[in-house]
Amino acid sequence: MPEGDTVYRSAKQLNAALAGTVLTRCDIRVPAFATVDLTGERVHEVVSRGKHLLMRVGAYTLHSHLKMEGAWHLYRPGSSWFRPAFLARAILANDSVEAVGFELGLFEVIERDRENEAVGYLGPDLLGADWDPQLALANIQHEPAREIGLALLDQRNLAGLGNVYRAELCFLRGVLPTRPVGEVGELEQMIELARRLIEANKDRPQRVTTGNLRRDRLWVYGRAGQPCRRCGTTIQRGELGDNELQLRVTSWCPACQS
Ligand SMILES: [Zn+2]
Repeated sequence: MPEGDTVYRSAKQLNAALAGTVLTRCDIRVPAFATVDLTGERVHEVVSRGKHLLMRVGAYTLHSHLKMEGAWHLYRPGSSWFRPAFLARAILANDSVEAVGFELGLFEVIERDRENEAVGYLGPDLLGADWDPQLALANIQHEPAREIGLALLDQRNLAGLGNVYRAELCFLRGVLPTRPVGEVGELEQMIELARRLIEANKDRPQRVTTGNLRRDRLWVYGRAGQPCRRCGTTIQRGELGDNELQLRVTSWCPACQS
Protein backbone atom coordinates (compact mmCIF):
# COMPACT_ATOMS: atom_id res chain seq x y z
CA MET A 1 0.00 0.00 0.00
CA PRO A 2 1.50 3.37 -1.00
CA GLU A 3 2.33 5.52 2.01
CA GLY A 4 4.62 8.53 2.38
CA ASP A 5 7.76 6.42 2.03
CA THR A 6 6.58 4.86 -1.26
CA VAL A 7 5.68 8.25 -2.71
CA TYR A 8 8.98 9.75 -1.56
CA ARG A 9 10.85 6.95 -3.34
CA SER A 10 8.76 7.33 -6.51
CA ALA A 11 9.43 11.07 -6.56
CA LYS A 12 13.15 10.50 -6.11
CA GLN A 13 13.29 7.99 -8.98
CA LEU A 14 11.15 10.13 -11.28
CA ASN A 15 13.24 13.17 -10.44
CA ALA A 16 16.47 11.32 -11.27
CA ALA A 17 15.00 10.16 -14.60
CA LEU A 18 13.21 13.31 -15.72
CA ALA A 19 14.49 16.47 -14.01
CA GLY A 20 16.32 18.83 -16.32
CA THR A 21 15.15 17.05 -19.46
CA VAL A 22 12.65 18.07 -22.11
CA LEU A 23 9.55 15.93 -22.64
CA THR A 24 9.39 14.25 -26.03
CA ARG A 25 6.02 12.70 -25.24
CA CYS A 26 3.11 13.71 -23.02
CA ASP A 27 0.07 11.48 -23.23
CA ILE A 28 -2.52 12.15 -20.55
CA ARG A 29 -5.43 9.71 -20.45
CA VAL A 30 -7.47 11.32 -17.72
CA PRO A 31 -10.46 12.78 -19.60
CA ALA A 32 -10.43 16.21 -17.96
CA PHE A 33 -6.80 16.77 -18.98
CA ALA A 34 -6.55 14.66 -22.13
CA THR A 35 -5.92 17.72 -24.32
CA VAL A 36 -3.01 18.95 -22.21
CA ASP A 37 0.23 18.43 -24.12
CA LEU A 38 3.47 19.40 -22.42
CA THR A 39 5.71 17.96 -25.14
CA GLY A 40 8.72 20.25 -25.55
CA GLU A 41 8.47 21.53 -21.98
CA ARG A 42 11.24 21.09 -19.46
CA VAL A 43 10.77 19.02 -16.31
CA HIS A 44 12.09 21.12 -13.43
CA GLU A 45 11.75 18.61 -10.62
CA VAL A 46 9.60 15.89 -9.10
CA VAL A 47 8.92 16.08 -5.37
CA SER A 48 6.68 14.38 -2.86
CA ARG A 49 4.52 16.13 -0.34
CA GLY A 50 3.12 13.60 2.12
CA LYS A 51 1.42 11.04 -0.10
CA HIS A 52 1.10 13.48 -3.02
CA LEU A 53 3.43 13.63 -5.98
CA LEU A 54 4.20 16.90 -7.73
CA MET A 55 5.88 16.92 -11.15
CA ARG A 56 6.82 20.46 -12.08
CA VAL A 57 6.86 20.80 -15.86
CA GLY A 58 7.12 24.15 -17.64
CA ALA A 59 4.64 26.50 -15.95
CA TYR A 60 2.54 23.58 -14.71
CA THR A 61 2.44 20.97 -11.99
CA LEU A 62 1.19 17.46 -12.60
CA HIS A 63 -0.33 16.54 -9.27
CA SER A 64 -0.99 12.87 -8.59
CA HIS A 65 -1.96 10.66 -5.68
CA LEU A 66 -1.46 6.91 -5.73
CA LYS A 67 -4.38 6.08 -3.38
CA MET A 68 -4.67 2.26 -3.06
CA GLU A 69 -3.37 0.78 -6.30
CA GLY A 70 -1.52 3.55 -8.08
CA ALA A 71 2.11 3.47 -9.13
CA TRP A 72 4.56 5.29 -11.37
CA HIS A 73 6.83 3.00 -13.38
CA LEU A 74 9.93 3.88 -15.37
CA TYR A 75 10.65 2.07 -18.63
CA ARG A 76 13.04 2.30 -21.52
CA PRO A 77 10.98 3.68 -24.40
CA GLY A 78 9.52 0.81 -26.39
CA SER A 79 9.90 -1.86 -23.70
CA SER A 80 6.79 -3.66 -22.46
CA TRP A 81 4.93 -2.51 -19.34
CA PHE A 82 4.28 -4.52 -16.18
CA ARG A 83 0.64 -3.39 -16.04
CA PRO A 84 -1.97 -3.36 -18.82
CA ALA A 85 -2.06 -0.25 -20.99
CA PHE A 86 -5.71 0.46 -20.19
CA LEU A 87 -4.68 1.20 -16.61
CA ALA A 88 -2.23 3.92 -17.70
CA ARG A 89 -3.38 7.43 -16.80
CA ALA A 90 -0.34 9.42 -17.91
CA ILE A 91 2.75 8.76 -20.02
CA LEU A 92 5.65 11.17 -19.96
CA ALA A 93 8.85 10.48 -21.82
CA ASN A 94 12.16 12.02 -22.75
CA ASP A 95 14.84 10.61 -25.06
CA SER A 96 15.90 7.86 -22.68
CA VAL A 97 13.05 7.03 -20.31
CA GLU A 98 9.31 6.66 -20.22
CA ALA A 99 7.37 7.33 -16.99
CA VAL A 100 3.93 5.71 -16.83
CA GLY A 101 1.42 6.45 -14.09
CA PHE A 102 -0.96 3.53 -13.57
CA GLU A 103 -4.28 3.58 -11.70
CA LEU A 104 -3.61 6.98 -10.17
CA GLY A 105 -6.27 7.76 -7.59
CA LEU A 106 -5.99 11.39 -8.50
CA PHE A 107 -4.35 13.16 -11.42
CA GLU A 108 -4.64 16.79 -12.34
CA VAL A 109 -2.70 19.42 -14.18
CA ILE A 110 -2.58 22.74 -12.39
CA GLU A 111 -0.73 26.00 -12.89
CA ARG A 112 2.48 25.86 -10.92
CA ASP A 113 1.69 28.96 -8.87
CA ARG A 114 -1.58 27.36 -7.74
CA GLU A 115 0.08 24.31 -6.22
CA ASN A 116 -0.77 25.51 -2.77
CA GLU A 117 -4.47 25.16 -3.51
CA ALA A 118 -3.92 21.46 -4.13
CA VAL A 119 -1.60 20.53 -1.26
CA GLY A 120 -1.50 23.56 1.03
CA TYR A 121 -3.93 21.97 3.46
CA LEU A 122 -1.46 19.22 4.34
CA GLY A 123 0.16 19.19 7.75
CA PRO A 124 3.93 18.94 8.20
CA ASP A 125 5.46 16.30 5.92
CA LEU A 126 7.21 13.50 7.83
CA LEU A 127 9.78 13.25 5.04
CA GLY A 128 9.83 16.92 4.10
CA ALA A 129 12.33 19.67 4.76
CA ASP A 130 9.55 21.47 6.64
CA TRP A 131 8.94 18.62 9.12
CA ASP A 132 7.80 20.15 12.38
CA PRO A 133 7.01 17.67 15.18
CA GLN A 134 5.64 20.36 17.49
CA LEU A 135 3.13 21.47 14.87
CA ALA A 136 2.14 17.86 14.15
CA LEU A 137 1.60 17.30 17.88
CA ALA A 138 -0.48 20.46 18.25
CA ASN A 139 -2.57 19.50 15.21
CA ILE A 140 -3.33 16.05 16.62
CA GLN A 141 -4.07 17.39 20.11
CA HIS A 142 -6.51 19.88 18.63
CA GLU A 143 -9.20 17.16 18.71
CA PRO A 144 -8.65 15.28 22.00
CA ALA A 145 -11.82 13.18 21.69
CA ARG A 146 -10.93 11.82 18.27
CA GLU A 147 -9.57 8.27 17.97
CA ILE A 148 -5.78 8.23 17.66
CA GLY A 149 -6.05 5.85 14.69
CA LEU A 150 -8.03 8.48 12.79
CA ALA A 151 -5.91 11.44 13.89
CA LEU A 152 -2.73 9.75 12.62
CA LEU A 153 -4.28 9.18 9.20
CA ASP A 154 -5.61 12.72 8.83
CA GLN A 155 -3.17 14.32 6.40
CA ARG A 156 -4.05 17.78 7.72
CA ASN A 157 -2.41 16.83 11.03
CA LEU A 158 0.77 15.36 9.59
CA ALA A 159 1.38 14.15 6.07
CA GLY A 160 2.64 10.75 4.98
CA LEU A 161 1.08 8.06 7.16
CA GLY A 162 -1.31 5.43 5.83
CA ASN A 163 -3.03 2.30 7.07
CA VAL A 164 0.16 0.30 7.61
CA TYR A 165 1.95 2.87 9.75
CA ARG A 166 -1.24 3.64 11.66
CA ALA A 167 -1.59 0.00 12.77
CA GLU A 168 2.10 -0.47 13.47
CA LEU A 169 2.52 2.75 15.44
CA CYS A 170 -0.44 1.97 17.68
CA PHE A 171 0.99 -1.49 18.35
CA LEU A 172 4.49 -0.23 19.07
CA ARG A 173 3.14 2.36 21.52
CA GLY A 174 0.76 -0.15 23.16
CA VAL A 175 -2.28 1.92 22.29
CA LEU A 176 -5.58 0.77 20.77
CA PRO A 177 -6.36 2.67 17.53
CA THR A 178 -9.73 3.59 19.05
CA ARG A 179 -8.21 5.29 22.11
CA PRO A 180 -9.06 9.01 22.19
CA VAL A 181 -6.11 11.30 21.49
CA GLY A 182 -6.49 12.96 24.89
CA GLU A 183 -5.90 9.62 26.62
CA VAL A 184 -2.76 8.67 24.71
CA GLY A 185 0.30 9.20 26.87
CA GLU A 186 3.56 10.53 25.48
CA LEU A 187 2.04 11.42 22.14
CA GLU A 188 5.21 13.27 21.12
CA GLN A 189 7.09 9.96 21.32
CA MET A 190 4.56 8.36 19.00
CA ILE A 191 5.12 11.16 16.49
CA GLU A 192 8.89 10.82 16.85
CA LEU A 193 8.55 7.08 16.25
CA ALA A 194 6.47 7.73 13.12
CA ARG A 195 9.25 9.92 11.80
CA ARG A 196 11.95 7.36 12.63
CA LEU A 197 10.07 4.47 11.00
CA ILE A 198 9.19 6.26 7.78
CA GLU A 199 12.69 7.74 7.54
CA ALA A 200 14.23 4.27 7.96
CA ASN A 201 11.94 2.86 5.26
CA LYS A 202 12.14 5.64 2.71
CA ASP A 203 14.82 4.03 0.56
CA ARG A 204 13.76 0.41 1.04
CA PRO A 205 11.49 -1.51 -1.35
CA GLN A 206 10.00 -3.44 1.62
CA ARG A 207 8.50 -1.65 4.60
CA VAL A 208 9.82 -2.91 7.95
CA THR A 209 8.68 -1.98 11.47
CA THR A 210 9.97 -4.97 13.43
CA GLY A 211 13.62 -4.44 12.62
CA ASN A 212 13.70 -7.78 10.76
CA LEU A 213 14.55 -7.10 7.13
CA ARG A 214 14.22 -10.71 5.97
CA ARG A 215 10.85 -11.85 7.30
CA ASP A 216 8.15 -10.98 9.85
CA ARG A 217 8.52 -7.36 8.75
CA LEU A 218 5.32 -6.04 10.36
CA TRP A 219 3.78 -6.50 13.82
CA VAL A 220 0.03 -6.39 13.21
CA TYR A 221 -0.87 -4.90 9.80
CA GLY A 222 -2.45 -7.58 7.60
CA ARG A 223 -2.05 -10.19 10.36
CA ALA A 224 -5.62 -10.51 11.73
CA GLY A 225 -6.26 -14.05 12.97
CA GLN A 226 -2.55 -14.79 13.41
CA PRO A 227 -0.73 -14.86 16.76
CA CYS A 228 0.86 -11.66 18.07
CA ARG A 229 4.62 -11.80 17.50
CA ARG A 230 5.17 -10.55 21.03
CA CYS A 231 2.60 -12.37 23.21
CA GLY A 232 0.86 -14.98 21.03
CA THR A 233 -2.66 -13.53 21.43
CA THR A 234 -4.73 -13.61 18.23
CA ILE A 235 -4.54 -10.32 16.32
CA GLN A 236 -7.96 -8.72 15.94
CA ARG A 237 -9.34 -6.74 13.03
CA GLY A 238 -11.93 -4.00 12.84
CA GLU A 239 -12.92 -0.94 10.87
CA LEU A 240 -12.21 2.64 11.77
CA GLY A 241 -13.42 5.78 10.04
CA ASP A 242 -14.92 9.22 10.54
CA ASN A 243 -18.00 8.00 8.70
CA GLU A 244 -19.28 4.88 6.97
CA LEU A 245 -17.82 5.89 3.63
CA GLN A 246 -14.30 6.19 4.96
CA LEU A 247 -14.04 2.96 6.94
CA ARG A 248 -10.62 1.37 6.69
CA VAL A 249 -9.59 -1.94 8.17
CA THR A 250 -7.12 -1.91 11.00
CA SER A 251 -5.68 -4.59 13.25
CA TRP A 252 -4.35 -4.77 16.79
CA CYS A 253 -3.32 -7.07 19.62
CA PRO A 254 -5.91 -6.97 22.40
CA ALA A 255 -3.30 -7.94 24.99
CA CYS A 256 -0.41 -5.66 23.99
CA GLN A 257 -2.62 -2.63 23.27
CA SER A 258 -5.10 -0.89 25.56
ZN1 LIG B 1 0.42 -9.06 21.84
